[in-house]
Amino acid sequence: MSQLNDRLDVLRGPAPAKGHDARTIAALTANPGCARRALLDAAGIDKDAIAVHLGKPRPLAKSSIALRSGAIFEQQVKEDGGAELVRLLRDVLKLPLPEAAHTDLSAVGTQDATLKVRHTYTRNAILDAARSTTPSRTLLDHPVLQLTVGGHRVFLEPDVVAFQIDGVFHIIEIKSFAVVDRQASPVKVAAAVTQAAAYVLALRELLEEEGFDGERMVAHDVILVTPLDFTRRPTASRVDARKKIDALTRQLSRLTRVEPLLEHVPASTTFDLALGPDERPTRDPKDLEAALSTLPIRYTPACRHFCDLAYVCRSQTRDEGLIDVLGIDVRDDLGGVDHISTALRLADDTRTPAADQSDLAAALRHAHTVRAQLRGAA
Ligand code: SF4
Repeated sequence: MSQLNDRLDVLRGPAPAKGHDARTIAALTANPGCARRALLDAAGIDKDAIAVHLGKPRPLAKSSIALRSGAIFEQQVKEDGGAELVRLLRDVLKLPLPEAAHTDLSAVGTQDATLKVRHTYTRNAILDAARSTTPSRTLLDHPVLQLTVGGHRVFLEPDVVAFQIDGVFHIIEIKSFAVVDRQASPVKVAAAVTQAAAYVLALRELLEEEGFDGERMVAHDVILVTPLDFTRRPTASRVDARKKIDALTRQLSRLTRVEPLLEHVPASTTFDLALGPDERPTRDPKDLEAALSTLPIRYTPACRHFCDLAYVCRSQTRDEGLIDVLGIDVRDDLGGVDHISTALRLADDTRTPAADQSDLAAALRHAHTVRAQLRGAA
């Protein structure tokens, strides 16, 4: 494992590793065949910083207003030692929970550099609670968990873990999207529940490593805290995350391990942006692009919904004339043909099809003929 970590450290350079979140876990499972994404995430590399340095658009960048609004809401929910959160938990869990201790690990620091320390604190606190013979009621704020992703352990940062209410741990996710008339955007709710499902799996992993029954001790119901209607007043909903937990478990088990992917990457490859004294990258962008080209991609137009590198990979895919740029359906329909130019030459009959391409070539020639007739008739 340390050899693997050494290789990943070289890939990342001196920058601190970035933690995962639901978005990155969902992205890994959305495009499990992409070696570039798998390796950059395993090494904790800041993909957004790479896109910015290469002058590409940032598909996932949130506006500063949205970020500020989310942070203000989270702060509001957690203020006064989590008093508001305890009130919400009492209501949503229907439990006598007059008060709960509030342990805020942000005292250790919230930057990426503190992930390891916060993880150690989190682990100790959770195991102490699990071993305790008296019921503990504690909110663990800014915790850090670890989850095995592609054979490699990555850090995750839930908003809050509520400790052992009646012997069960609960994951709490705070989101600033509104719930109006008990309805919220299904897409946003699904993303939030996927995120919480990853935290449930990470917490179960931690407990099971120490011999506890993780499935019994971590609730499959997660608690979403959101603003109510058009106010900033928080409300809590209990959401059954079983389907997402099962789906994520299946997808994670299918992910390729990162060690075999590294075998094809030169040992000297690095994504160090070489920050200067003013904290600005000094790395030659062409050199960075050359390093990226050592990591194979599996681009699809849907990448822009979940990966910071979408426009970097789209440019590469277009420059190389790969079928992938046309989408998964076309790629599947043209299975075995990698380049657009090959498909066009099969269609206009200027290329002899391989033995296993005769049906595909006939279909492409037919489509080409129909298109030419329609254009002629127009
Ligand atoms: S944008 Fe690039 S790195 Fe990201 S998942 Fe798609 S192909 Fe992989």
